[in-house]
Order: sequence, then structure tokens, then C-alpha cells
Amino acid sequence: MIGNVTAAPNPKSLIVSLHDAHPGSRARIAEQIAFLAERGVTRSSILVVPEFHHGGSLLQDKAFCEAVSGWQEQGHEIVLHGYYHDRRESPPERLSTVFWTRLYTNREAEFLDLPLETARLRLERGRALFASQGWRARGFVAPAWLMAGGLPNLLAEMGFTYTTRLGEIIPLLPGLNRVTTSQSLCYSSRAAWRRFASCVWNKYLYGRLRETDLVRLSLHPCDLEFPLLRRQIDQIVRASLKRGFQPTTYDGHVAR
Ligand SMILES: [Zn+2]
Repeated sequence: MIGNVTAAPNPKSLIVSLHDAHPGSRARIAEQIAFLAERGVTRSSILVVPEFHHGGSLLQDKAFCEAVSGWQEQGHEIVLHGYYHDRRESPPERLSTVFWTRLYTNREAEFLDLPLETARLRLERGRALFASQGWRARGFVAPAWLMAGGLPNLLAEMGFTYTTRLGEIIPLLPGLNRVTTSQSLCYSSRAAWRRFASCVWNKYLYGRLRETDLVRLSLHPCDLEFPLLRRQIDQIVRASLKRGFQPTTYDGHVAR
């Protein structure tokens, strides 16, 4: 563990992160950006996957690359989010990891148990790909926030400035050692019962978060397609802005 745990700093911040941006999700990410902008959230952290599900490099889709560059120019942050976002080349599952690999995620926890040398190679490739497009990759977020114990130290050594888990933001630069504890709102949309349970949980969680200095809202590409989720996301965004939460990015939050 790096740093000490403290409460989130002032002023009140709203960090919306858009997960799993890749050529196949471009239209839905663009719709999320527009949805948020209509409500006054004009910056977010966009989590980009270099070769989503081994489907080829994002560099093959010029329109996607131009869209991402445009989002960065508009003030959104571009974050490296895994490399493949799947477990096709991962170690065999063990009883101790099967909950995370099969139930919590749908075999997407790429960095959960990856040997650190393999992790380093994927991080280097991802960062080189970002650099080729002029995208700053200051932060790294593991798929489903699941990472091997040594990964934060490796990220720090490689010069990433922060990573996040579901329940915390971990700065990695020397001198920036204050871990922010804050549970992200997040939806599981794979089945109707999961969507319903997510909304019940997020309503409860938001009731607690709105009394703190930080609300994190993590969205996945399909979330807005479900009216139940769309309605609640709309309510949370509007209520947060009304209560004085300022939209920012993870990078902006860590840098201050
Ligand atoms: Zn993801």
C-alpha cells in the first residue's frame, strides 16, 4: 500500500469515468459525452483499451483515434485501461480467483493475476500506442479495478501518476501520497436483476457520498441504453451539480 488514507480534499468534486472506450463502443461513448455535456459535465476521464478482446489494435480505426484526440482537446482525460481487457493469455483460474474472474466479471480481469513482467510489457505497449497519438496516459485503471498486489508499485516505477480501485484513488508520484478513499457508483447491467440491484445499491451509496467531498460515477458503454439506469444517472448528475460538485478528471483530482 502506498501512502496514507485520508478523507477526500475540498472543494467538492464529481468525477465521471467512461469505461471501455474502443472502436466498437465509439458511438456509445460519444452519446455518453453528449448526455453529460447537456447536463453541464464537460470533462470526464475516458478509459481507452488498446486491443479490446484481442480484436485488433485501435490504431486500425482512424475515425476512433480522431474522436479520442478530439475528446482530449475538449478537456477530457484519456486513461490507459488494460491492454486486451480479457483473460485469453492469463494464468489458469484458481479457486481463489474464480469469484473475480467468472462472477464479478465476465472473464475480463486482465491484470488480476498477470505476472509483473507480462504486465510491464503490456503497459509499455499501451503507453507507446497512446504516445503515437499524442494522448497523455498519466493514469492507469485495471479492468474491473482488479490488479495484482505489486501492480501499483510497478506503475509508480514506470511513471504513471495514479491508479484507482473501486473504493480508492491511489496517487503514485513521490510527494503525492494521499490515497483518497471513496467508493465509485457503478452499474452491473448484464441481467435485469443486476440492473435493479445496482440501482438500489447506488441510491443508498449516493445518499452517503453526497455528504462527502467526492462523488465518483463510473459508466460502461451500455448503461444509458437501459431506461432504469439512464433515469438514475440523470438524477445523480443533476443532483450533484446542484449541490455544488465540480466536474473534474482523475488526473485533475490527483494533481491538485
Ligand atoms: Zn473496463
